[in-house]
Amino acid sequence: MTPQGTSLIGQQAVTGDQAVIRAIDPARGETLAPDYPGLGRDEVVRACQLAETAFASYRESSLEDRAAFLETVASEIEALGDALVERAMAETGLPRARIEGERGRTCGQLRLFASVVRAGEWLDVRIDPALPEREPMPRVDLRQRHLALGPVAVFGASNFPLAFSVAGGDTASALAAGCPVVVKAHSAHPGTSELVGRAVQAAVAKCQLPEGVFSVLFGSGKEIGQALVADPRIQAVGFTGSRSGGLALQQTAQNRPQPIPVYAEMSSINPVFLLPEALQSRGKEIAEGFVGSLNMGAGQFCTNPGLVIGIKGEGLDTFLSTAGQGIHGSAAQTMLTPGIHAAYQDGVGSLAGNSSVREVARGQAGEGPHQCQPALFVASASDFLADEAMQAEVFGAGGLVVECADVEEMRRVAEALEGQLTATLQMDDGDLATSRQLLPLLERKAGRILANGWPTGVEVCHAMVHGGPFPATSDSRTTSVGSAAIHRFLRPVCYQNLPEGLLPEALKDDNPLKISRLVDGKRD
Ligand code: NAP
Repeated sequence: MTPQGTSLIGQQAVTGDQAVIRAIDPARGETLAPDYPGLGRDEVVRACQLAETAFASYRESSLEDRAAFLETVASEIEALGDALVERAMAETGLPRARIEGERGRTCGQLRLFASVVRAGEWLDVRIDPALPEREPMPRVDLRQRHLALGPVAVFGASNFPLAFSVAGGDTASALAAGCPVVVKAHSAHPGTSELVGRAVQAAVAKCQLPEGVFSVLFGSGKEIGQALVADPRIQAVGFTGSRSGGLALQQTAQNRPQPIPVYAEMSSINPVFLLPEALQSRGKEIAEGFVGSLNMGAGQFCTNPGLVIGIKGEGLDTFLSTAGQGIHGSAAQTMLTPGIHAAYQDGVGSLAGNSSVREVARGQAGEGPHQCQPALFVASASDFLADEAMQAEVFGAGGLVVECADVEEMRRVAEALEGQLTATLQMDDGDLATSRQLLPLLERKAGRILANGWPTGVEVCHAMVHGGPFPATSDSRTTSVGSAAIHRFLRPVCYQNLPEGLLPEALKDDNPLKISRLVDGKRD
């Protein structure tokens, strides 16, 4: 299959008439065919109308039908074969192994959600049977289940063209919850988006679902992205991207006559705390691990370890010299888009131009366009604490080391941090007492806390939290990776004294869905 340059609204392929979007091969700086003429607001309305119509039946599709649909989407993506891998490589500059790995992750998470749907625990059924004899007041019959919110708008991310894009985690979790999805495709990888969109479209047809269950739209975020979030039929938003983009969409969602939740994953610098004993005993090894994590994927991961905090001394000196050598020997890598490359250059430029910041090392300069030249800087904790600008995310392989006078200053740095996706402790047994002091602070700052690992590499599983307080995300109560992501698109409904014949299947006395339920406070 080759990309045609069309949006997909339900089962239709639609050619827009607004400003054209063109993919750019960032490694060569060349435009890739075909053109994607952007859609206008009328097509957004059409996709939302179809989604609303589809919602009536899709939200009550059987657990088995919905699970089979998610599995069919995965199979259809796999059936795209090498055409998908090659197009994604050309549009992102990412190597084959990374794209193939991401395809595996994308299909794996669709299948994970299929198993979650079948198990039915997400329905969170609670039944408190009537107690007519209770004194002084009888209790009525109360039964709760969770229901899909309604059509969901998904904004694909630039840095995961498959796993956080058209059929990525946001889409999989929303479809699993029973919500139709309208995707605003990321303009950086339209061909990849169309191919995956066609795979989902084929799965909708094969599973005989209403066509409005899924649409993918191409066009300007400021035009059709805004119109999508403002559309009264949309009931929630999933977004991964810049802080400014996430905040603009959140504003629109809040200004609607009916405000809706926006789950935006935006910016995080993922602090790594080098505790004294660990630094003393394995400063060199930690530095090597850090450079590997910082450089991974040209640093274009939301969990990239952009901030390192250590206590001045011999151990930190060893860390800095080893990390400096590692950075100096690091090759440049192609970045995803010209815009992301320009933003990286600006971020590194403002650290380099800050008189309180010293450059430790720069990596090798690249030859082609849009090359990320790794960079490492160092600043004192007192200067870091006095300058909020040093906390700005530099999206790419740029890092800042903060030198503290003692543990107390390290604690103050932790306290001053904005919300983060992750926080990491590099610690040995002798660092337990210091770690205990830091942990309560880190719990308030981050969605995931690691010991002796690196934050890049996010497992898709049941226990994962890929979230965190603002600005890591717009809503710290949830995750965008892992099976718990389904809860973002559900809400509880309680049924009081409904006759058995009117109750949804999940709540009937004889438990026809055979799911785990909380009955009178006990799990059955
Ligand atoms: P972006 O500019 O925020 O774009 C993401 C999506 O949102 C695109 O579809 C874009 O539409 C749309 N959009 C942007 N601004 C909008 C607005 N005001 N109203 C409505 N829609 C809007 O992000 P990006 O292009 O992926 O990357 C730019 C920067 O974001 C990076 O340099 C980096 O700093 C940050 N980023 C962070 C993460 C993370 O996980 N922390 C991940 C990726 C990027 P268009 O197609 O029209 O552009």
